[in-house]
Amino acid sequence: MPMKIDVGDLVYTKKPHPCGNNEFLITRTGMDFRMKCTKCGKEVWITRVKLEKRIKKIEKNEK
Ligand SMILES: [Zn+2]
Repeated sequence: MPMKIDVGDLVYTKKPHPCGNNEFLITRTGMDFRMKCTKCGKEVWITRVKLEKRIKKIEKNEK
């Protein structure tokens, strides 16, 4: 069952970004996901499979 991940959600990864932060904001969804490091602002593309493996926690952006 795939995880529900939407634009605006915050994800916490098991492995931190090289800048030391492990909190990312989802900015694009689809075949691949785009997420932005909330500390250094760098955006990275990641496949769903890889992203799901790396996620420790998702904080939904409830509107
Ligand atoms: Zn970073």
